[in-house]
Amino acid sequence: MIRNFKELPQRNVIDQSTLIGGNPPSIYRLCHYYSSDELFFHCSSQEVDVADLCTYIQFKAEAEIEIEFELGFQHVLEFLVISLGASQVINVVKNNTEYIDVDLYNERDMRCGEWFNTNQSYFDSVYGNCAELLLKNTIKCSQCDLSAIRVVDDKPLCDGHK
Ligand SMILES: [Zn+2]
Repeated sequence: MIRNFKELPQRNVIDQSTLIGGNPPSIYRLCHYYSSDELFFHCSSQEVDVADLCTYIQFKAEAEIEIEFELGFQHVLEFLVISLGASQVINVVKNNTEYIDVDLYNERDMRCGEWFNTNQSYFDSVYGNCAELLLKNTIKCSQCDLSAIRVVDDKPLCDGHK
């Protein structure tokens, strides 16, 4: 099989215990209003608002894959790894940690309409290549190894399995 896209980089994982003691790093928590799941990551880049970027890739997935498609936390993190050099943080001691919540449900909700109309195409011009890399490599067909282009009954499907 010919692949036209680069492989995704290996995800860098940091154990929180290795972060304590230095300058407080920027730790974020991905969460969702309707879920108890969470995923922590570290991102020191100041080039963009992290919640903006998380919402951008969600809107992108809706446009490129299927309107109802919802990216999982791992997919959102993969995108932040590619675009901003973020790293997952494991073994987080929540009581002793300051972190910034990024609620993917609420953040997306706030950016429908005006934010989308004003900013989505700008984000596309800066992060479009990273978004394409993420969506083509990460979202696999549930029936085979090809990239998914749409989702039916929560199952991603490729062009041949639609
Ligand atoms: Zn398939």
